Amino acid sequence: MAEGLAAVRSALMRKNLNVDANEWRNSVALTGHVSSWEQYMEAGYAAAGKGYEAVVNDLTVEGVVPFKPSMPEPQNPIDPDTYFDAVVIGGGVIGSAIARELTRWDITVALLEKENDLAMQTSSRNDGMVHPPFAVTPGSKKAHYNQRGNKMFAQTARELGVSLEWPGMLMLFSNPWQRAFLPAIWQRIKQNEVCGAEFWNRQRVFKMEPNITADQHGGVFLPDSGIVSPYQLTVAFGENAVQNGATVLLNTVVTGFQ
Ligand SMILES: Cc1cc2nc3c(=O)[nH]c(=O)nc-3n(C[C@H](O)[C@H](O)[C@H](O)COP(=O)(O)OP(=O)(O)OC[C@H]3O[C@@H](n4cnc5c(N)ncnc54)[C@H](O)[C@@H]3O)c2cc1C
Repeated sequence: MAEGLAAVRSALMRKNLNVDANEWRNSVALTGHVSSWEQYMEAGYAAAGKGYEAVVNDLTVEGVVPFKPSMPEPQNPIDPDTYFDAVVIGGGVIGSAIARELTRWDITVALLEKENDLAMQTSSRNDGMVHPPFAVTPGSKKAHYNQRGNKMFAQTARELGVSLEWPGMLMLFSNPWQRAFLPAIWQRIKQNEVCGAEFWNRQRVFKMEPNITADQHGGVFLPDSGIVSPYQLTVAFGENAVQNGATVLLNTVVTGFQ
């Protein structure tokens, strides 16, 4: 790890960035103040790939007001005698799904969310795409769970009464030279067992989607790509958890553990 830190520090010095780097858990944390967003990015790139799991970029930038997470108004803390067998912190899609899953067991479950509803953060700010395991590293856990999750989606959506469509995804080549990557793309598709992928040439793309940009040189169609409302899904997980006996506590922020 020390070698990694020396490498990060010298990379930052070479870029003339007045940034401090320190180890934090298995990551490297950057602190200090930089004069532009470009420098912020440069520092992050300089620290990346030096043997750490992640880069925590905590730099402040001239003229950029730091983001402050929203906090609920303080209210009476939960009665200390309240007991749950399992407590899930955070009512995004992940926490809500976990809470619902836990209700399959004969245990008491609580889901704590600091906002005044579920899905108020990242889970309500995404594209709602159900991806096939296309972009993930072959053989990784992510590839395994991406594939498994993709296949579980239809059944889960049916159970929750959430509408789910499978229009497929078309990845376009915006330059003719990008088509040179097709063999590599194809290899990954095969390794990750992505079903039903097809190469569409420029004419076929126009035929299937006449309103598409003229700046396209064909693309790869992945039929196992779905679309779902991310808010509806998250709320449905939470509601089903409640139907199964879980307790959802909104406006409830976790400030520490004792
Ligand atoms: C632009 C964008 C596009 C994306 N597109 C897709 C896509 O198409 N398909 C896809 O699958 N994924 C997509 N993602 C990723 C996906 O949105 C996230 O992986 C997912 O929403 C993460 O869910 P989460 O439950 O972990 O986090 P969150 O939804 O952020 O939930 C965390 C919850 O914890 C609460 N919380 C935080 N701290 C506390 C505390 N101390 N006490 C109590 N509660 C707390 C927060 O208020 C929040 O509600 C996209 C993400 C982005 C940003």
